[in-house]
Amino acid sequence: MNPHEGLVSRLRAAWLSGKTRPMEYRVAQLEALGRFLDEKKQDILEATALDMGKPPFEVELSEISICRSELNHTLNNLGTWMKDEHVQKNWVTQLDSAFIRKDPYGVVLIIGPWNYPINLLLVPLIGAIAAGNCAVIKPSEISRNVERLVAETLPKYLDKDCFAVVTAGVEEATRLLENKFDYIFFTGSPSVGRIVMTAAAKHLTPVTLELGGKNPCYVSDNCNVHNVARRVAWGRFFNAGQTCVAPDYVLCSLEMQEKLLPALREAITEFYGPNPQESPNFARIVGDKHFQRVRALLNSGNVAIGGQTDTETRYIAPTVLVDVQQDDPVMQEEIFGPILPIITVASMDDAIAFINARERPLALYVFSSCKKVVNQVLEQTSSGGFCANDTIMHMTLTSLPFGGIGQSGLGRYHGRFSFETFSHPRSALLRGIGREALNDPRYPPYAARRLPLLRAATETKRRAVCAIL
Ligand code: NAD
Repeated sequence: MNPHEGLVSRLRAAWLSGKTRPMEYRVAQLEALGRFLDEKKQDILEATALDMGKPPFEVELSEISICRSELNHTLNNLGTWMKDEHVQKNWVTQLDSAFIRKDPYGVVLIIGPWNYPINLLLVPLIGAIAAGNCAVIKPSEISRNVERLVAETLPKYLDKDCFAVVTAGVEEATRLLENKFDYIFFTGSPSVGRIVMTAAAKHLTPVTLELGGKNPCYVSDNCNVHNVARRVAWGRFFNAGQTCVAPDYVLCSLEMQEKLLPALREAITEFYGPNPQESPNFARIVGDKHFQRVRALLNSGNVAIGGQTDTETRYIAPTVLVDVQQDDPVMQEEIFGPILPIITVASMDDAIAFINARERPLALYVFSSCKKVVNQVLEQTSSGGFCANDTIMHMTLTSLPFGGIGQSGLGRYHGRFSFETFSHPRSALLRGIGREALNDPRYPPYAARRLPLLRAATETKRRAVCAIL
């Protein structure tokens, strides 16, 4: 027997009882999540500091404030989102009621990664609760202090009949995935995403895959270098580069590289002081395996800034690499560490061609004071999200969908999009049982003469196109 079969059956029974459907229940659980964030804030700060030396300021901003913002936005709008959406009708159904009911899926599984271990578990959970689901939550075993905190304390805030935390390494997670869930929301690497999707396919379970990849950052010749350097350095070195939407590499001309290097050096010193190892504002790599992998990437190209490492504390200095070739290891995988390679290109067209020759990224950044350049990059490329003249900031908006495309993921969430992700848009047509004569034309024995009438009553017509426009 599967070790989690009992748990999943228990949650499904609770879901079938209809307990999670009323708005009051959803609001109460969301408010309980808010209390968890308030009351356990200090524990979250300590656990994330133990796991990867996360600066408290970064935790406040990227874990707690983002969850709080999602919670408030959801609580402010839930009543509207839950409403049936009435739709246009044809002639035949004029007297009926036709609408989309936002139905919960049932029992959903949320699997989180270690890099933002609270945010990337709770933000999907907010959507799952808001949509009326029961949920199994699996934190990453790599951020083990947060895993322990979530497993020990979160269940005390939520309804145990409907929500459970499962701690699992790879082997146990594999067994967990053998169960039939009604939806799986996964955040992690593309390789594990494939495993999750394969397991989901066995039960035809729908999935959202929030994955990673290499996010390009094109810096045109026409921009304020000082501001570019600060915004790129902040996005790259926040959480020691362990951010799925961090700019992974810079594309720019050789002339821009010459201007950007001193500006980046200045920004790094301004942010982290002359020795970033002593800075309280710079995080560490999460574990030894990840440290070894990221450190090995320092051998690509030449180190222009930084490059220092310390194995014991898993420290890798904010680093900029130059003379990087396309086939260097640093350009073969998502860096997920504090290393920024600069690749020189001859023109904007070359940068666009470079981007389009690779997997579609989760985020794409362009810096230019020329709107035409920004629009051209936006028009001629494809990515999960896009941000001009800054990094990461697009994902602070609950009004924008967040998700990847192609290799960087499948599906979207945040704000209303989270609610929609965890809701099945169930189509409903409620007809009356009388007025049977109106149905006569569609029944056999078929009469060809009735066809024009039926078609007129059911078929959608092409709207007339205005000749002036
Ligand atoms: P990962 O894929 O190694 O692990 C993610 C989760 O999957 C963890 O909970 C882990 O325990 C679980 N897992 C691992 N192997 C499994 C298996 N065989 N079966 C079932 N579950 C398994 O990812 P990670 O190292 O935790 O996170 C880093 C990756 O996540 C990066 O690629 C990053 O870009 C991506 N990421 C994406 C987003 C996003 O929003 N798109 C956010 C953060 C991180």
